[in-house]
Amino acid sequence: MTTLWIKNPLAVFTANDLDARGGLVIRDGKIIELVALGQTPASPYDQFFDAQNLVITPGLINSHHHFYQTLTRAWAPVVNAPLFPWLKTLYPVWAKLNTEQHYLATQIALSELLLSGCTFTIICFHSSCPMPLMFRLKHQNN
Ligand SMILES: [Zn+2]
Repeated sequence: MTTLWIKNPLAVFTANDLDARGGLVIRDGKIIELVALGQTPASPYDQFFDAQNLVITPGLINSHHHFYQTLTRAWAPVVNAPLFPWLKTLYPVWAKLNTEQHYLATQIALSELLLSGCTFTIICFHSSCPMPLMFRLKHQNN
């Protein structure tokens, strides 16, 4: 059981009026204390992490994402196309994606989501997603 003080973040979102500008104290994956600006934790801690150049937010939720579209979003034939011509051009492309291309798209999308603070997402498939990919991703992320 390690207790960690995430110290003095650049900014912190608390969704209330509580002052956590001095950071958060985490134990067993749970926030046990908010530390006000200029204060030190009242709780004993084992380690601290200097977050002076980082922002603390809750894990963000993305409720609808098309991972496979990461591979075609800058494809010249459809850049700046209106929605329906864009879809009509891309559906046949997406329908031909193979397992490895879906895997690559998923890696890109998950990396981008994590870098933006997203910790939960729901994948939407309008094209077929090979079932071996889903099993591979599930096994890899367990
Ligand atoms: Zn969708």
